[in-house]
Amino acid sequence: MKSCARGFLVLAAVAAASVLFAGHFLVQSSAAVAQPPTTAEQALKAFAAMRPIDVHVHVFKSDPQFQALLESLNLKLLNILVVDDTLSYRKQLEPQIKDALDLVQSSRGHIALCTTFDPYKFNDANFDAGAIRQINHDFAQGAVAVKIWKNIGMEIKDRDGKFVMPDDPKFAPIYNDIARHGKTLMAHVAEPDVAWGPPDPSDPSWSYYQENPQWFLYNKPGFPSKQEILTARDHVLADHPKLRMVGVHLGSMEKDLDNIAAHFDRYPNFAVDTAARMEYLMIATPEKVRAFLIKYQDRVLYGTDLDLIASADVEESLKEWQSTYVRDWKFLATDETFDSEGRKVHGLKLPEAVLQKIFRNNALHWIPGL
Ligand SMILES: [Zn+2]
Repeated sequence: MKSCARGFLVLAAVAAASVLFAGHFLVQSSAAVAQPPTTAEQALKAFAAMRPIDVHVHVFKSDPQFQALLESLNLKLLNILVVDDTLSYRKQLEPQIKDALDLVQSSRGHIALCTTFDPYKFNDANFDAGAIRQINHDFAQGAVAVKIWKNIGMEIKDRDGKFVMPDDPKFAPIYNDIARHGKTLMAHVAEPDVAWGPPDPSDPSWSYYQENPQWFLYNKPGFPSKQEILTARDHVLADHPKLRMVGVHLGSMEKDLDNIAAHFDRYPNFAVDTAARMEYLMIATPEKVRAFLIKYQDRVLYGTDLDLIASADVEESLKEWQSTYVRDWKFLATDETFDSEGRKVHGLKLPEAVLQKIFRNNALHWIPGL
Protein backbone atom coordinates (compact mmCIF):
# COMPACT_ATOMS: atom_id res chain seq x y z
CA MET A 1 0.00 0.00 0.00
CA LYS A 2 2.82 2.29 0.85
CA SER A 3 4.35 2.06 -2.60
CA CYS A 4 0.91 2.37 -4.19
CA ALA A 5 0.25 5.54 -2.23
CA ARG A 6 3.63 6.87 -3.30
CA GLY A 7 2.78 6.08 -6.93
CA PHE A 8 -0.46 8.02 -6.58
CA LEU A 9 1.36 10.97 -5.08
CA VAL A 10 3.82 11.01 -7.96
CA LEU A 11 0.96 10.90 -10.46
CA ALA A 12 -0.87 13.67 -8.64
CA ALA A 13 2.29 15.74 -8.61
CA VAL A 14 2.80 15.23 -12.34
CA ALA A 15 -0.82 16.21 -12.99
CA ALA A 16 -0.53 19.32 -10.82
CA ALA A 17 2.71 20.25 -12.54
CA SER A 18 1.16 19.96 -15.98
CA VAL A 19 -1.74 22.19 -14.93
CA LEU A 20 0.80 24.70 -13.62
CA PHE A 21 2.80 24.42 -16.83
CA ALA A 22 -0.28 24.98 -18.96
CA GLY A 23 -1.23 27.97 -16.82
CA HIS A 24 2.26 29.37 -17.10
CA PHE A 25 2.19 28.93 -20.86
CA LEU A 26 -1.12 30.80 -21.10
CA VAL A 27 0.20 33.69 -19.02
CA GLN A 28 3.31 33.86 -21.18
CA SER A 29 1.46 33.90 -24.48
CA SER A 30 -0.97 36.63 -23.35
CA ALA A 31 2.03 38.69 -22.11
CA ALA A 32 3.65 38.29 -25.52
CA VAL A 33 0.61 39.94 -27.12
CA ALA A 34 0.95 42.94 -24.75
CA GLN A 35 4.71 43.16 -25.55
CA PRO A 36 7.36 42.65 -22.91
CA PRO A 37 8.92 45.81 -21.45
CA THR A 38 11.97 47.25 -23.15
CA THR A 39 15.15 45.91 -21.59
CA ALA A 40 18.04 48.20 -20.70
CA GLU A 41 20.05 46.61 -23.48
CA GLN A 42 17.32 47.27 -26.06
CA ALA A 43 16.89 50.85 -24.88
CA LEU A 44 20.62 51.57 -25.17
CA LYS A 45 20.76 49.98 -28.59
CA ALA A 46 17.88 52.13 -29.87
CA PHE A 47 19.40 55.22 -28.21
CA ALA A 48 22.77 54.51 -29.87
CA ALA A 49 21.07 54.18 -33.26
CA MET A 50 20.13 57.88 -33.03
CA ARG A 51 23.86 58.80 -32.87
CA PRO A 52 22.83 60.85 -29.83
CA ILE A 53 24.35 64.08 -28.54
CA ASP A 54 24.16 64.89 -24.83
CA VAL A 55 24.65 68.66 -24.75
CA HIS A 56 25.10 68.98 -21.00
CA VAL A 57 27.74 67.00 -19.10
CA HIS A 58 30.65 67.74 -16.79
CA VAL A 59 33.58 65.40 -17.39
CA PHE A 60 36.81 65.91 -15.47
CA LYS A 61 38.81 62.85 -16.40
CA SER A 62 39.63 60.56 -19.26
CA ASP A 63 39.11 56.87 -18.70
CA PRO A 64 39.24 53.88 -21.05
CA GLN A 65 35.97 52.39 -19.77
CA PHE A 66 34.25 55.74 -20.17
CA GLN A 67 35.63 56.14 -23.68
CA ALA A 68 34.38 52.63 -24.50
CA LEU A 69 30.88 53.62 -23.37
CA LEU A 70 30.91 56.69 -25.64
CA GLU A 71 32.01 54.54 -28.55
CA SER A 72 29.47 51.79 -27.93
CA LEU A 73 26.64 54.34 -27.72
CA ASN A 74 27.81 56.43 -30.74
CA LEU A 75 27.54 59.22 -28.20
CA LYS A 76 28.84 62.77 -28.48
CA LEU A 77 29.06 65.02 -25.42
CA LEU A 78 29.21 68.74 -24.87
CA ASN A 79 31.46 69.14 -21.84
CA ILE A 80 30.53 72.32 -19.98
CA LEU A 81 32.92 74.34 -17.82
CA VAL A 82 31.83 76.39 -14.83
CA VAL A 83 33.76 78.58 -12.40
CA ASP A 84 32.30 77.92 -8.96
CA ASP A 85 33.93 79.39 -5.88
CA THR A 86 32.16 76.87 -3.63
CA LEU A 87 33.90 73.80 -5.15
CA SER A 88 37.69 73.50 -5.01
CA TYR A 89 38.06 71.74 -8.37
CA ARG A 90 35.99 74.40 -10.11
CA LYS A 91 37.55 77.51 -8.61
CA GLN A 92 40.27 78.01 -11.19
CA LEU A 93 39.37 78.31 -14.85
CA GLU A 94 42.75 77.91 -16.58
CA PRO A 95 43.48 74.34 -15.39
CA GLN A 96 39.90 73.35 -16.25
CA ILE A 97 40.32 74.63 -19.80
CA LYS A 98 43.60 72.79 -20.21
CA ASP A 99 42.16 69.49 -18.94
CA ALA A 100 39.02 69.91 -21.05
CA LEU A 101 41.02 70.52 -24.24
CA ASP A 102 43.12 67.43 -23.50
CA LEU A 103 39.89 65.49 -23.13
CA VAL A 104 38.62 66.77 -26.49
CA GLN A 105 41.88 65.52 -28.03
CA SER A 106 41.83 62.10 -26.39
CA SER A 107 38.12 61.42 -26.96
CA ARG A 108 38.50 60.76 -30.70
CA GLY A 109 35.68 63.10 -31.64
CA HIS A 110 33.29 62.14 -28.83
CA ILE A 111 33.69 65.20 -26.61
CA ALA A 112 33.35 68.89 -27.51
CA LEU A 113 34.03 71.86 -25.27
CA CYS A 114 31.72 74.54 -23.94
CA THR A 115 34.05 77.04 -22.29
CA THR A 116 33.22 79.85 -19.90
CA PHE A 117 34.78 83.01 -18.51
CA ASP A 118 35.49 83.89 -14.89
CA PRO A 119 32.60 86.05 -13.66
CA TYR A 120 34.27 86.52 -10.25
CA LYS A 121 36.56 88.98 -12.07
CA PHE A 122 33.53 91.14 -12.79
CA ASN A 123 34.83 94.10 -10.78
CA ASP A 124 38.28 94.09 -12.42
CA ALA A 125 38.95 97.11 -14.62
CA ASN A 126 39.53 95.07 -17.79
CA PHE A 127 36.98 92.32 -17.07
CA ASP A 128 35.19 92.19 -20.42
CA ALA A 129 38.33 92.61 -22.56
CA GLY A 130 40.03 89.82 -20.61
CA ALA A 131 37.00 87.54 -20.88
CA ILE A 132 36.75 88.13 -24.63
CA ARG A 133 40.46 87.50 -25.18
CA GLN A 134 40.20 84.21 -23.29
CA ILE A 135 37.03 82.87 -24.96
CA ASN A 136 38.38 83.80 -28.40
CA HIS A 137 41.49 81.83 -27.58
CA ASP A 138 39.26 78.88 -26.60
CA PHE A 139 37.24 79.24 -29.83
CA ALA A 140 40.52 79.02 -31.75
CA GLN A 141 41.21 75.76 -29.90
CA GLY A 142 37.81 74.39 -30.93
CA ALA A 143 35.36 75.46 -28.20
CA VAL A 144 31.85 75.57 -29.68
CA ALA A 145 29.91 77.36 -26.94
CA VAL A 146 30.18 79.53 -23.82
CA LYS A 147 28.44 78.94 -20.53
CA ILE A 148 27.09 81.46 -18.06
CA TRP A 149 26.05 80.14 -14.68
CA LYS A 150 23.67 80.87 -11.86
CA ASN A 151 26.33 82.75 -9.87
CA ILE A 152 25.35 85.61 -12.22
CA GLY A 153 22.08 86.70 -10.63
CA MET A 154 22.39 84.74 -7.40
CA GLU A 155 25.88 85.27 -5.97
CA ILE A 156 28.24 87.80 -7.55
CA LYS A 157 27.89 91.44 -6.56
CA ASP A 158 29.12 94.64 -8.17
CA ARG A 159 31.15 97.38 -6.45
CA ASP A 160 27.94 98.85 -5.03
CA GLY A 161 27.04 95.55 -3.39
CA LYS A 162 24.20 94.87 -5.83
CA PHE A 163 23.70 91.44 -7.40
CA VAL A 164 25.11 91.29 -10.92
CA MET A 165 22.38 90.32 -13.38
CA PRO A 166 22.74 88.56 -16.78
CA ASP A 167 21.79 91.77 -18.62
CA ASP A 168 24.46 93.89 -16.97
CA PRO A 169 25.91 96.19 -19.68
CA LYS A 170 29.40 94.84 -18.91
CA PHE A 171 28.37 91.49 -20.44
CA ALA A 172 27.11 93.00 -23.72
CA PRO A 173 30.52 93.02 -25.48
CA ILE A 174 30.99 89.37 -24.47
CA TYR A 175 27.59 88.37 -25.86
CA ASN A 176 28.34 90.31 -29.06
CA ASP A 177 31.65 88.51 -29.40
CA ILE A 178 30.00 85.09 -29.00
CA ALA A 179 27.39 85.97 -31.64
CA ARG A 180 30.03 87.38 -34.00
CA HIS A 181 31.94 84.08 -33.85
CA GLY A 182 28.75 82.13 -34.57
CA LYS A 183 28.99 80.36 -31.21
CA THR A 184 26.22 79.55 -28.74
CA LEU A 185 25.54 80.81 -25.23
CA MET A 186 24.56 78.06 -22.81
CA ALA A 187 22.70 79.97 -20.11
CA HIS A 188 22.09 78.49 -16.70
CA VAL A 189 20.18 81.40 -15.24
CA ALA A 190 18.30 81.12 -11.91
CA GLU A 191 17.29 77.80 -10.38
CA PRO A 192 14.18 75.61 -10.03
CA ASP A 193 11.24 77.24 -8.21
CA VAL A 194 11.95 75.15 -5.12
CA ALA A 195 15.23 77.05 -4.50
CA TRP A 196 13.15 80.03 -3.37
CA GLY A 197 11.17 77.75 -1.08
CA PRO A 198 9.29 76.73 0.91
CA PRO A 199 10.98 73.38 1.51
CA ASP A 200 9.37 70.67 -0.62
CA PRO A 201 10.74 67.14 -0.26
CA SER A 202 8.48 66.00 -3.12
CA ASP A 203 10.26 68.27 -5.61
CA PRO A 204 12.68 66.42 -7.93
CA SER A 205 15.44 68.95 -7.13
CA TRP A 206 14.99 68.86 -3.36
CA SER A 207 17.94 66.57 -2.63
CA TYR A 208 20.23 69.00 -4.49
CA TYR A 209 19.45 71.78 -2.00
CA GLN A 210 20.01 69.49 0.93
CA GLU A 211 23.49 68.81 -0.43
CA ASN A 212 24.06 72.41 -1.60
CA PRO A 213 22.28 74.64 0.93
CA GLN A 214 24.20 77.71 -0.26
CA TRP A 215 21.79 77.88 -3.21
CA PHE A 216 18.61 77.46 -1.15
CA LEU A 217 17.27 80.98 -0.72
CA TYR A 218 14.19 80.42 1.42
CA ASN A 219 14.22 82.80 4.39
CA LYS A 220 17.37 84.47 3.09
CA PRO A 221 16.42 88.08 2.50
CA GLY A 222 18.18 90.30 -0.03
CA PHE A 223 18.37 87.88 -2.96
CA PRO A 224 16.69 88.76 -6.26
CA SER A 225 13.45 86.93 -7.00
CA LYS A 226 13.50 84.23 -9.63
CA GLN A 227 11.33 86.39 -11.89
CA GLU A 228 13.78 89.33 -11.69
CA ILE A 229 16.62 87.07 -12.80
CA LEU A 230 14.64 85.51 -15.66
CA THR A 231 13.48 88.94 -16.80
CA ALA A 232 17.15 89.99 -17.01
CA ARG A 233 17.80 86.83 -19.07
CA ASP A 234 14.95 87.80 -21.39
CA HIS A 235 16.51 91.24 -21.90
CA VAL A 236 19.61 89.48 -23.25
CA LEU A 237 17.44 87.53 -25.70
CA ALA A 238 15.71 90.70 -26.86
CA ASP A 239 18.88 92.84 -27.03
CA HIS A 240 20.98 90.22 -28.86
CA PRO A 241 18.72 88.69 -31.53
CA LYS A 242 21.74 87.26 -33.36
CA LEU A 243 22.97 85.45 -30.26
CA ARG A 244 21.79 81.82 -30.08
CA MET A 245 20.95 81.02 -26.47
CA VAL A 246 20.21 77.58 -25.07
CA GLY A 247 18.46 78.00 -21.74
CA VAL A 248 19.79 74.97 -19.93
CA HIS A 249 17.66 73.10 -17.38
CA LEU A 250 14.48 73.90 -19.37
CA GLY A 251 15.43 77.58 -19.16
CA SER A 252 14.64 77.38 -15.41
CA MET A 253 10.94 77.26 -16.29
CA GLU A 254 10.78 73.60 -15.33
CA LYS A 255 7.18 73.59 -14.10
CA ASP A 256 5.64 75.85 -16.72
CA LEU A 257 5.58 74.53 -20.28
CA ASP A 258 3.27 77.37 -21.33
CA ASN A 259 5.91 79.86 -20.25
CA ILE A 260 8.62 78.02 -22.19
CA ALA A 261 6.33 77.98 -25.23
CA ALA A 262 5.68 81.72 -24.89
CA HIS A 263 9.47 82.29 -24.84
CA PHE A 264 9.91 80.16 -27.98
CA ASP A 265 7.19 82.16 -29.72
CA ARG A 266 8.69 85.47 -28.66
CA TYR A 267 12.43 84.78 -29.06
CA PRO A 268 13.45 82.88 -32.20
CA ASN A 269 17.03 82.79 -30.84
CA PHE A 270 16.04 80.69 -27.82
CA ALA A 271 16.06 76.93 -27.24
CA VAL A 272 16.25 74.85 -24.06
CA ASP A 273 17.98 71.70 -22.88
CA THR A 274 16.50 69.03 -20.64
CA ALA A 275 19.51 68.66 -18.33
CA ALA A 276 18.63 67.49 -14.83
CA ARG A 277 15.02 68.48 -15.44
CA MET A 278 13.64 65.46 -17.30
CA GLU A 279 12.05 64.49 -13.96
CA TYR A 280 9.80 67.56 -14.18
CA LEU A 281 8.61 66.45 -17.62
CA MET A 282 8.02 62.99 -16.17
CA ILE A 283 5.70 64.30 -13.44
CA ALA A 284 3.75 66.65 -15.71
CA THR A 285 0.65 65.53 -17.64
CA PRO A 286 1.97 63.16 -20.34
CA GLU A 287 -0.45 64.39 -23.04
CA LYS A 288 0.61 67.99 -22.41
CA VAL A 289 4.34 67.21 -22.47
CA ARG A 290 3.92 65.15 -25.63
CA ALA A 291 2.02 67.93 -27.44
CA PHE A 292 4.64 70.47 -26.31
CA LEU A 293 7.58 68.39 -27.52
CA ILE A 294 5.89 67.78 -30.87
CA LYS A 295 4.92 71.43 -31.39
CA TYR A 296 8.38 72.70 -30.37
CA GLN A 297 10.33 69.76 -31.76
CA ASP A 298 13.03 72.10 -33.15
CA ARG A 299 13.68 73.88 -29.84
CA VAL A 300 14.48 71.18 -27.27
CA LEU A 301 17.98 69.69 -26.95
CA TYR A 302 18.75 66.52 -25.06
CA GLY A 303 21.04 67.02 -22.05
CA THR A 304 21.49 65.21 -18.75
CA ASP A 305 23.94 67.06 -16.45
CA LEU A 306 25.71 63.74 -15.83
CA ASP A 307 29.23 64.07 -14.51
CA LEU A 308 32.48 62.19 -14.16
CA ILE A 309 34.56 63.95 -11.55
CA ALA A 310 38.25 63.25 -11.05
CA SER A 311 37.66 61.28 -7.85
CA ALA A 312 34.74 59.29 -9.29
CA ASP A 313 34.39 55.53 -8.99
CA VAL A 314 34.19 55.04 -12.75
CA GLU A 315 32.19 51.82 -12.61
CA GLU A 316 29.55 53.37 -10.36
CA SER A 317 29.41 56.49 -12.52
CA LEU A 318 29.01 54.46 -15.70
CA LYS A 319 26.03 52.66 -14.17
CA GLU A 320 24.41 56.01 -13.54
CA TRP A 321 25.14 57.25 -17.07
CA GLN A 322 23.64 54.11 -18.57
CA SER A 323 20.57 54.03 -16.36
CA THR A 324 19.87 57.69 -17.13
CA TYR A 325 20.00 57.06 -20.87
CA VAL A 326 17.79 53.98 -20.47
CA ARG A 327 15.26 55.93 -18.39
CA ASP A 328 15.15 58.87 -20.80
CA TRP A 329 14.82 56.60 -23.81
CA LYS A 330 11.94 54.70 -22.25
CA PHE A 331 10.25 57.97 -21.30
CA LEU A 332 10.55 59.68 -24.68
CA ALA A 333 10.46 56.75 -27.09
CA THR A 334 8.17 54.05 -25.63
CA ASP A 335 4.59 53.92 -24.37
CA GLU A 336 5.56 51.90 -21.32
CA THR A 337 4.77 52.75 -17.73
CA PHE A 338 7.73 52.28 -15.40
CA ASP A 339 9.07 53.23 -11.99
CA SER A 340 11.75 55.88 -11.61
CA GLU A 341 12.90 56.88 -8.11
CA GLY A 342 9.55 55.89 -6.66
CA ARG A 343 7.52 57.69 -9.31
CA LYS A 344 5.33 56.11 -11.98
CA VAL A 345 6.42 57.38 -15.37
CA HIS A 346 4.32 57.10 -18.55
CA GLY A 347 6.29 56.89 -21.78
CA LEU A 348 5.45 59.48 -24.46
CA LYS A 349 6.26 57.40 -27.54
CA LEU A 350 7.27 60.44 -29.59
CA PRO A 351 7.41 60.05 -33.37
CA GLU A 352 10.75 58.84 -34.70
CA ALA A 353 11.44 62.14 -36.49
CA VAL A 354 10.93 64.10 -33.25
CA LEU A 355 13.24 61.76 -31.33
CA GLN A 356 15.91 62.24 -33.98
CA LYS A 357 15.69 66.02 -33.50
CA ILE A 358 15.74 65.96 -29.70
CA PHE A 359 18.51 63.38 -29.38
CA ARG A 360 20.71 64.75 -32.19
CA ASN A 361 19.70 67.19 -34.90
CA ASN A 362 18.70 70.11 -32.67
CA ALA A 363 22.12 69.99 -31.03
CA LEU A 364 23.80 70.25 -34.45
CA HIS A 365 21.54 73.14 -35.44
CA TRP A 366 21.75 75.17 -32.23
CA ILE A 367 25.40 74.47 -31.46
CA PRO A 368 27.21 74.53 -34.82
CA GLY A 369 30.62 72.94 -34.63
CA LEU A 370 29.40 69.97 -32.65
ZN1 LIG B 1 25.35 71.37 -15.39
